[in-house]
Amino acid sequence: MNKLNLKGMKRQELVERLAGIGKERYRADQIIRWLYLQRVRNIDEMSNLSRLCRKHLQDFSYIGQIELVKEELSQDGTRKFLFRLEDEHTIETVLIAEKSRLTLCISTQVGCRMGCRFCLTGRSGFERQLSAAEIVDQVIQVAEIVAPESQGRGAISNIVMMGMGEPLDNFTEVVKALEILMYDDGLQFSNRRLTLSTCGLAPEIIELGKLTHVSLAISLNAADDTLRSELMPVNRRYNLDELLAACRTYPATNQRRITFEYILFAGLNDSLEDAGRLVELVGNLPVKINLIPFNEHPELSFKRPDHQRIVDFVNFLQQHKLMVMTRRSKGADISAACGQLRAAEAAVEAAQEPAIS
Ligand code: SAH
Ligand code: SF4
Repeated sequence: MNKLNLKGMKRQELVERLAGIGKERYRADQIIRWLYLQRVRNIDEMSNLSRLCRKHLQDFSYIGQIELVKEELSQDGTRKFLFRLEDEHTIETVLIAEKSRLTLCISTQVGCRMGCRFCLTGRSGFERQLSAAEIVDQVIQVAEIVAPESQGRGAISNIVMMGMGEPLDNFTEVVKALEILMYDDGLQFSNRRLTLSTCGLAPEIIELGKLTHVSLAISLNAADDTLRSELMPVNRRYNLDELLAACRTYPATNQRRITFEYILFAGLNDSLEDAGRLVELVGNLPVKINLIPFNEHPELSFKRPDHQRIVDFVNFLQQHKLMVMTRRSKGADISAACGQLRAAEAAVEAAQEPAIS
């Protein structure tokens, strides 16, 4: 029998498993505190469980560990961690320090099958899904590395699912991970401090809204279907109309703005006509536009617009009453998540600000 990794089990699953071996419900709460507050590495460290209870637990489960392989530190304080999974695959997790926030950008898949043309993760193809345990463990391990004396999430204030992978293409495990991250006797993240970024899987956006109220970020990148389909194949499955309709169903829009990420590519989507299309597209939906000047890379032919072009684009959106942000680069010297970092920071900022309307 394959043993289960305790870190990926929801409270209810634990309760049921424990009931099967005659253990009380509160034992599940104790185990949760050991796993996520105390961050124990071994079932035998759970000292308020009897030896027999620990033995029963060991019969069907274990505490899995992703393993740090490498850490890089950027001049601006951004830290990139490379973790090895049990089957030797590796994933990236990035810690971004900004103002009073410490944001962890986590991966949800090894690779990605969405194939966005400007994204290095997309171009490198898909290996496999991450389990809920592997998603949650990125948080536990980084908390342990940066603040071993702390409990729970330590000083990590926000999580963004903006590392490798498309979170909504790994729906079940991602939703499970979000629930575990929110346990208030565990890692204690609130909806507002969890942001999920998606390329636009419309049906899953609607489903997500039924199950959680985490902050939502959409990688938009183009406001017309022809260009968006060229840049992001997912748009051929769910076009802009369908995407926007799904966003309108998302519950958090009542309290918070959805972030629309828009990478600016020179000569492709950075004209004032493009800005006009963007204004028209979002209409009266309470959104925040996060403009990300493309992070150039030798393997990609896209270019970043010059400064004036960006300023003009921003001004146009602001004149049309859109809330806009542009980001300076973070972690560029360690190519942290290939430019995805700026998107990550801005999404967190957007999620923390209440919507005006
Ligand atoms: N798959 C999800 C989350 C991971 S990608 C999504 O697409 O939203 C995170 C963000 O990084 C996306 O907004 C994506 O558009 C952006 N990104 C990817 N490559 C980039 C690059 N080279 N320069 C700037 N942003 C990039
Ligand atoms: Fe995947 Fe997001 Fe990259 Fe697109 S931008 S390929 S969805 S990781």
